[in-house]
Amino acid sequence: MLLQVLGTAAGGGLPQWNCACPGCAGARAHPERRRLHASLALRASPGRWYVINATPDIGEQIEACPGLLPEAGQDADTRLSPLVGVVLTDAELDHTLGIARLREARDGVEVLATAPVLGAVRDRLGLGAVLGPYTSTRWHELTGAGRQLNEQSAVRVAAVRVSAKRPRYAEGLGPDDAAWSVALRLHDTGTGRTVLYAPALAAWTDAFEEAAREADVVLVDGTFWDEEEPRRAGFSDRTATGMGHLPVAGPGGTAHRLAGLPGRCLYTHLNNTNPLGDPSAEQHKQLADWGLEVAQDRMVIEL
Ligand SMILES: [Zn+2]
Repeated sequence: MLLQVLGTAAGGGLPQWNCACPGCAGARAHPERRRLHASLALRASPGRWYVINATPDIGEQIEACPGLLPEAGQDADTRLSPLVGVVLTDAELDHTLGIARLREARDGVEVLATAPVLGAVRDRLGLGAVLGPYTSTRWHELTGAGRQLNEQSAVRVAAVRVSAKRPRYAEGLGPDDAAWSVALRLHDTGTGRTVLYAPALAAWTDAFEEAAREADVVLVDGTFWDEEEPRRAGFSDRTATGMGHLPVAGPGGTAHRLAGLPGRCLYTHLNNTNPLGDPSAEQHKQLADWGLEVAQDRMVIEL
């Protein structure tokens, strides 16, 4: 299985366009600290790729990922893209707005997501009607049973339900269940290897624990370092968990749980207030002591 990390930032990116906090200012002063919105590219089979979440940065992300670049074909055909579809973990704007940027897709776009997420993106966000005049969009429901990405692919993708956290724009839509925000279990039936991707983890459920134990690589929500970070930074009166993101450190944090897992664990989806965005921050030493890593933009994961 071959993956490339396309971005590792939470909503807004690093830097965020309207923010001058120390993290954003640091990323402006030190371009190597910049992070695009959290996303992954996954090779389903040779020459056929999916992105896991479609962010507002998807154009730049495609240009930075060799596997996603178009190639000229026969008869001067220059619009052959290896990108065939998008798999969604939730319906948040930062994970879905990039679908609209794929409107030029000549051969259409597949979108795989759980039923409530499909409903939000297709009907409430309006992408079904909006994209119709430009390209064909094929909407596929993703469940816990999983599905093979395409006929040639050895990769199966399944949804592991995490929480009922839905985007604000989807208020009042669909059932109030944990299919709104899921982790994705990516399993290569050829090699037997598994990657678990959970950029938003509001609760450490039994189902998530089981999936994490079985995974060779776990990429997990590192939005906030600690529980009080959103309040301390002054942009919210809620805690990290209250905002739908278990923090990294502290009693309710994910670090001690991840440290006990057999697989390789990396944090992604870093908010611009997270000290881990600064490479010189002391928190990196604590992570290393726990045997945990921070994912980096353009990192390649092959297993
Ligand atoms: Zn900021």
